[in-house]
Amino acid sequence: MATCNECNGACCKEICVGIDEPKTIEDWDEIRWMVAHENIAVYVDDEDDWLVEIQTNCSKLDKDNKCIIYGKRPLICKDHKLDTCVKNADEEGEKLRFNTIEEVEAHIEKVVKPKFQKDLEGWNF
Ligand code: SF4
Ligand code: SF4
Repeated sequence: MATCNECNGACCKEICVGIDEPKTIEDWDEIRWMVAHENIAVYVDDEDDWLVEIQTNCSKLDKDNKCIIYGKRPLICKDHKLDTCVKNADEEGEKLRFNTIEEVEAHIEKVVKPKFQKDLEGWNF
């Protein structure tokens, strides 16, 4: 298991925010829009939760990857568990991941479009 001393502070370099599972063509188009932005990914975790991952460094992480407000860091940081952190969690547990708009489009073609055949007129990309 990775320890914090040998890590580059990976957990302080991203924010993950829960989103609703896309259920309509418009929802999927929104996923395309999200991941078209730099440093944004969308993934589904091992509990089927959908999340937007925003890859951005915390401003309180110093150049040695230490927290400069450790004693008063936010609760979400205090509650973060080593065994389920980004370095140690089982990445195989991710059920889906989209890092690029092309990956979303490939999934739409293969999996989503067949479910929405009758609603597809006028949806071009
Ligand atoms: S909790 Fe995990 S990701 Fe965060 S610094 Fe420690 S080893 Fe790295
Ligand atoms: S406040 Fe500290 S522990 Fe929390 S994300 Fe920022 S650097 Fe990491």
